[in-house]
Amino acid sequence: MKIGLMGGSFDPIHNGHLVLAEQVRTRFQMDKIIFIPSGNPPHKETMASKEDRYNMTKLAIEDNEYFEISRIELDQDHKTYTIDTVKRLQAMYGDSVEVFFITGADMMIDLPSWKNFDELVTICKFIGSTRPGVDYTELSDQIDALVRDYKADITITQVPALAISSTDIRRRIKYNLSIRYLLPRTTEDYIYTHNLYCDRRTIL
Ligand code: NAP
Repeated sequence: MKIGLMGGSFDPIHNGHLVLAEQVRTRFQMDKIIFIPSGNPPHKETMASKEDRYNMTKLAIEDNEYFEISRIELDQDHKTYTIDTVKRLQAMYGDSVEVFFITGADMMIDLPSWKNFDELVTICKFIGSTRPGVDYTELSDQIDALVRDYKADITITQVPALAISSTDIRRRIKYNLSIRYLLPRTTEDYIYTHNLYCDRRTIL
């Protein structure tokens, strides 16, 4: 069995995330993609609450039978780390499951600082998605080093739809600009119904 774990804050989830998940699912013939909204990310604050990020993600994926959502990180009170998440999911699905951790390529540059990275590379593969218009020269050198030094299995994939970003969506809402077609309509409706991201004092 092959499972893709889509890790991210999803603050909010958008069509770039969905296109990426569907592309890697089909390219790597994965059985399912599990979206894992981060609970208390080790290094940052989120703008929307855990429950709002969970609800927005759940609404966004509901029409894809291969997509699921997990509360595995959201329900932790303490900071969550990818190594613990992957191990818990492996315990649920069995050791023979092949796990791919999918996230933004930006995050890959810091991989060696992730908790127990040397063990993490032995139990999961990584897929990082690049954003159009960003120079990844430094990242490419870094990844070569990770493959060489840690035998890490890292694939970088380009998804033009990732020109959409959560930061831009939050900024658009703050300045009353349209977010139509950047994310599923159900998620857009949820954002407006719950008055998310409209406080001009929030830090982007
Ligand atoms: P984030 O703030 O949500 O996003 C950071 C950057 O990556 C943003 O540009 C974001 O774009 C992009 N991104 C995030 N998730 C993505 C996804 N699934 N697909 C494509 N692009 C994505 O990132 P985060 O939540 O802090 O971290 C991402 C994942 O890495 C989480 O699962 C987190 O737990 C894990 N992580 C683990 C450790 C550790 O174990 N020590 C350390 C750092 C991160 P958008 O804003 O448009 O989404």
